[in-house]
Amino acid sequence: MKKLFLNIRKLLFKTDCILCNKDAEEKLRYLCSNCYNNLKLSSSLKKMGNIYYIWDYNKLNSKLIFEYKYNNIKEISNIYSSIMKDKIFEVLEKEEIDYIFPIPITKKRRSKRGYNQTEVILDKMNLRYENSERIKETKAMYKLLDKGKREKNISNAFYINNINKYNDKNILIFDDIITTGATTKEFERTLKDKWKVKKIVIFSCMGSKTIKKLNINKEVNDEF
Ligand SMILES: [Zn+2]
Repeated sequence: MKKLFLNIRKLLFKTDCILCNKDAEEKLRYLCSNCYNNLKLSSSLKKMGNIYYIWDYNKLNSKLIFEYKYNNIKEISNIYSSIMKDKIFEVLEKEEIDYIFPIPITKKRRSKRGYNQTEVILDKMNLRYENSERIKETKAMYKLLDKGKREKNISNAFYINNINKYNDKNILIFDDIITTGATTKEFERTLKDKWKVKKIVIFSCMGSKTIKKLNINKEVNDEF
């Protein structure tokens, strides 16, 4: 009976690896062990200016994050959190972070997706974070190739409750992917407009190659 149950379970939950289409590992649900290991081996803590990130943007990574964000496979958060946990804790300690802000999504998007993908990853790592709102309906940034259009799209998109507690604090902004930097930059601006924060660092699962082209030493003035 137990065996039958296990077989039914296997049949019901059997999925292909979303990266290579081979049989997925039961424990990982959406990846085979080979792809998971590749993902783990290619992860490392990288830093450009005030931006920390784990993976360079490539075909495999972008497919995984796309499935997570746009095909609503919430369990992929387990894969991200298990690989990133040590690294984000390292940054929290090193930068003496007081508060974490995940980049918010609009209410409309949240009800459609059912969750905010950045919050879910933080939840899985047992990290507490601050709330903020995305008050402007914005187009998905990956659809906008032009830098000016991206900046206009995201301008005045965020609202942070006016609580008097972020002055002189170290803040970490958490996002899933940074392509040109416009989103996190706008969030940073929103914070700095209201409070005299001591320091802001950004932590992202993935950064794109364009990060490296930015003149980070002056200031991160683009979104990657
Ligand atoms: Zn695979």
